[in-house]
Amino acid sequence: MIHEYQLRLLPVQASSEQNIISYLAQEEGLDARTVNSVRVLKRSIDARQRTIYVNLKVRAYINELPQDDEFVHTEYQDVSDRPRVIVVGEGPGGLFASLRLIELGFRPVVIERGKDVRERKKDMAGITKTQQVDPESNYCFGEGGAGAYSDGKLYTRSKKRGSVEKILNVFCQHGASTGILADAHPHIGTDKLPRVIENMRNTILKCGGEVHFQTKMTALMLDHERVAGVETVNLATGAEEHFRGPVILATGHSARDVYRYLHAEQIEMEAKGIAVGVRLEHPAQLIDQIQYHNKNGKGKYLPTAEYSFVTQVGGRGVYSFCMCPGGFVIPAATGPQQIVVNGMSPANRGTRWSNSGMVVEVHPDDVAALLKPENGESEGADAADPLCVMRFQETLERDCWQQGNRKQTAPAQRMADFVNRKLSYDLPPSSYAPGLISSPLHFWMPAFVVSRLQEGFKVFGRNAHGFLTNEAVLIATETRTSSPVRILRDRETLQHVRLEGLFPCGEGAGYAGGIVSAGIDGERCAEMCAEYMKRL
Ligand SMILES: Cc1cc2nc3c(=O)[nH]c(=O)nc-3n(C[C@H](O)[C@H](O)[C@H](O)COP(=O)(O)OP(=O)(O)OC[C@H]3O[C@@H](n4cnc5c(N)ncnc54)[C@H](O)[C@@H]3O)c2cc1C
Repeated sequence: MIHEYQLRLLPVQASSEQNIISYLAQEEGLDARTVNSVRVLKRSIDARQRTIYVNLKVRAYINELPQDDEFVHTEYQDVSDRPRVIVVGEGPGGLFASLRLIELGFRPVVIERGKDVRERKKDMAGITKTQQVDPESNYCFGEGGAGAYSDGKLYTRSKKRGSVEKILNVFCQHGASTGILADAHPHIGTDKLPRVIENMRNTILKCGGEVHFQTKMTALMLDHERVAGVETVNLATGAEEHFRGPVILATGHSARDVYRYLHAEQIEMEAKGIAVGVRLEHPAQLIDQIQYHNKNGKGKYLPTAEYSFVTQVGGRGVYSFCMCPGGFVIPAATGPQQIVVNGMSPANRGTRWSNSGMVVEVHPDDVAALLKPENGESEGADAADPLCVMRFQETLERDCWQQGNRKQTAPAQRMADFVNRKLSYDLPPSSYAPGLISSPLHFWMPAFVVSRLQEGFKVFGRNAHGFLTNEAVLIATETRTSSPVRILRDRETLQHVRLEGLFPCGEGAGYAGGIVSAGIDGERCAEMCAEYMKRL
């Protein structure tokens, strides 16, 4: 017999299968000896009150063994002799597009400027050693895309439950823990993601697809109003090569050379709002104490605490973004003369720090006032310029690099000092490996952003006692929260509004914001591309 239960347990009661069975025996009158297995279907933590509860939906297998798989398998067929589709970018958008193409009977040919997910790691470690960023292999470029070395958070605001579940199930099929299907806030962790990504690539190769690393798309092959393929350069050998086929363009939010190329070719795009600010890092223990209302922190049975804050200041949203409990702040720039910070966490979220982006919404209309006239890019101050928000990002990142001694040492300020407009005489220990340098962020960051962050922090500090503290440090600057550009596509066919055979995809095209939503958009682009191929 199989029976499902909704349970509200103390953390210790929810901490193991055995403890759950004991609870069921005690409270539901089950004979523990007859319960062969308990599977957790949904798990969330209710930390609103002083006593913390874990809400569980569980399935108990009584006098029988589980027969059903823990996740739904997708069948991938051999597509070696099928028509090919060019997928540019092997981030989540490109990966899920490729796998879906295989399901639908098409052969993906993946073009990726960066290295494979393991090789790439060396270049990222090199940033701390050399203070230099490789513009082709870094935290944003390379196999797995921007999401590979992240927290691997897999929650999304997408309302398409079926699509979200498909993405999570595909991750499980490629080696992610099935816990992601149950958790209200699932995450994989930066130490586990590379293996999952490698397994996804191996599925593509095994089915007859191709993956070309260190191969950068330099141009689209245009045949009147139709995209017929891509021109590429091999970054290791310098060899140029053309790949023919319709193109799913999933190059992410940091491929500024791609945006510049599209703009020069007058391919229709528009500027898109983003959010900018800083990374805020607290001692993890402090966040645990605040969120779990307990001076002892999380104790033995609770995960490292998360938070999510949002408010409105001066007509713009101020909010926490991409929170990484028990994680690291990392250097996420993609080129010279930039500092960009972001966050990642291992699966156990076990470091001494918890960080999140703290950002302010910026609309294209705001940028005119924000761009400094002396930077010589006066055309960037026009909201009608598709690249104006990108130029603003670049200005802020360059300012930050100058303030950071022209290295990857990031300018930083204690949190309360920032709110009180005081220079920090020293800085707390931080997970940011290239190092921090004390800097008056309140003085040189745009006043539009500073004043809203200051007010926002006061609100968050009132709602969470102890949050606004000098034990926390702000690290500049967080600019790559989403794409600064939207490549215009038809709502139904997902093709570019003018160019046939071009499917702008994922975060870089302006249609996703996170791993899961990029994956969902990748699948949709593959489906629409398959429809297009059938009509040819
Ligand atoms: C440090 C960090 C942590 C993050 N943490 C999370 C998280 O926990 N959860 C979450 O949901 N989201 C997270 N994000 C955001 C998430 O990674 C992105 O939303 C997601 O990766 C977007 O997927 P994508 O496929 O659209 O683009 P990307 O992942 O950016 O992939 C684009 C790919 O295209 C390649 N490319 C670019 N230009 C070219 C070219 N000319 N030729 C060939 N290839 C090219 C790039 O090398 C890259 O691999 C994080 C991002 C970062 C940077």
